[in-house]
Amino acid sequence: MLFAKNLTKSYNEVKALSNVNLSIQKGELYGMLGPNGAGKTTTISILSSLLKPDEGEIFYEDKNLYQNLAECKKLIGVVPQKIALYEDLTASENLKFWGTMYGIKGQSLQKKCDELLDFLGLSDRKNHKIKTYSGGMKRRINIAAALLHNPKIVFMDEPTVGIDPQSRNLIFEVIEELHLRGLTMIYTTHYMEEAERLCDRIGIIDEGRIIAEGSLDELKADSSLKEEIHLKYSNPNQSGLDPLTDRYKGQLLINEDHLILSSSKANAELPGLIQLCSKCELLLDKIDIRSLSLESVFLELTGKSLRD
Ligand code: ADP
Repeated sequence: MLFAKNLTKSYNEVKALSNVNLSIQKGELYGMLGPNGAGKTTTISILSSLLKPDEGEIFYEDKNLYQNLAECKKLIGVVPQKIALYEDLTASENLKFWGTMYGIKGQSLQKKCDELLDFLGLSDRKNHKIKTYSGGMKRRINIAAALLHNPKIVFMDEPTVGIDPQSRNLIFEVIEELHLRGLTMIYTTHYMEEAERLCDRIGIIDEGRIIAEGSLDELKADSSLKEEIHLKYSNPNQSGLDPLTDRYKGQLLINEDHLILSSSKANAELPGLIQLCSKCELLLDKIDIRSLSLESVFLELTGKSLRD
């Protein structure tokens, strides 16, 4: 469906993308997972023709994007990170405005708007002005706007940032339904739980490069790590944890009241870990061993936490 080769882009001195290659199959939900500044928005902007790469080629099916711009653009829907709606118009009026921009008119526009408002669970609020909407509702209208012209591939740029958990779940359900209907999607996020839940395949992007790619199971299987030790403590003394962070560089995630150590053999690691915790004067409440998470894989590959 989409094939991109050697995408490279700099903003003055800042190298945002370096030789990014992508091959997305029809019907695939591909997740691009990386921290802020990794290059996700730049990639989506280039793939959707909003931004020209310095180098690289993009093909939709067998058509070169820049040589067939008008034709390719009809295939593409974009849900931008920034809400692109008129606050003083109603949801219905906003969708009609965007539909007209795509050249949809009359009865078919009305029908499409009603169908999408229903699909996104906003029919009962369709005549209310956008300024009365919550952040999550605005994002749902943004998704509807990207679907008006029946695109074959949709780019979603961090569609759940800054919204409440209930709206986030509603958006997940919408994406899952679109996936079931066979829509091809590229979804960017810095939340590993979203990539884990939604995506068929995940590309881990850091500092403008895709450093690993595969299904969740493939990414975990490729890691030298196999398990995680989750250790909960009740006297967090973040400044006194140097012995632990020095010993387990690139393996340890530290949160407010617990730490996660990823390991190739958790049982063997446990006595040394407990000894170091005692040296750091941590009062341990609970220890358990779990299977490897995507976050540990990310830490192993990049040396940093997605939560940084
Ligand atoms: P992400 O979407 O993963 O947060 P971006 O693609 O927005 O990452 O940014 C990639 C890099 O390019 C970052 O270092 C960012 O600061 C830089 N960047 C993005 N847009 C611009 C711009 N318009 N001008 C200068 N630098 C930019």
